[in-house]
Amino acid sequence: MQRTPLIAANWKMHGSTALVQQMSAALSELPPTNLTIVVCPPATLLPRFSQVSSFALGGQTLSHEVSGAYTGELSAELLQEAGAHYVIVGHSERRTLNNEDDALVAAKLKRAVAAGLIPILCIGETLAQRQQEKTEQVLAQQLDAVYASQPELLAKSVIAYEPIWAIGTGESATPEQAQATHAFIRQHLAQYDTQSAVRAKILYGGSVNAGNCAALFQQADIDGALVGGASLKPAEFAQICLAVT
Ligand code: PEP
Repeated sequence: MQRTPLIAANWKMHGSTALVQQMSAALSELPPTNLTIVVCPPATLLPRFSQVSSFALGGQTLSHEVSGAYTGELSAELLQEAGAHYVIVGHSERRTLNNEDDALVAAKLKRAVAAGLIPILCIGETLAQRQQEKTEQVLAQQLDAVYASQPELLAKSVIAYEPIWAIGTGESATPEQAQATHAFIRQHLAQYDTQSAVRAKILYGGSVNAGNCAALFQQADIDGALVGGASLKPAEFAQICLAVT
């Protein structure tokens, strides 16, 4: 296998110290494998994880600035100090609710890499864009905004394909739909750097659960998942981790 799998949990604005403990316990019982697990809780919970030997931690966003008078923002360094090794960049909720455009997403990803964090870059189309057969155009634009002028960042990134219509809706893309889109993404990445495109981990995100994950993980270009809702249930999240190994 050219790529080792990665499963990331996006807790969004959910969680508690109790959930930190339950998740830590559930993941510590998993057998050792080559799977990388990344838990991205709200930033205030990052230091509450004490037992992080069987998984890594990530932030859900970061500032594109190094430091300064940016009230409420968190820098890459602050996330690292709290225990993060990864950071989600460009999640569709932040693109929509916080007006993060492609240029800002590119600046955040660059900052993350400069600080030594591994960015998980989220890209994805709306339902209307899919229905208008614009999915590939939208994804290409989101990728080009980040990598066209800085292709060297690809080798240091994880990509998450998250169709917006599948996030939090209970309606996942079918394995065939997801595979076709992942194959397109990998092919597009090859324009920046052929070797890195082959090596790039491309996660699927959008209503992944214990019932639908195995069929998704069987697809050649799906290297794991970014899990939202189901990552708040430690037993189910552990099952998803088991299914990819
Ligand atoms: C997400 O928020 O990244 C996500 C994929 O959410 P869900 O699994 O709930 O669809």
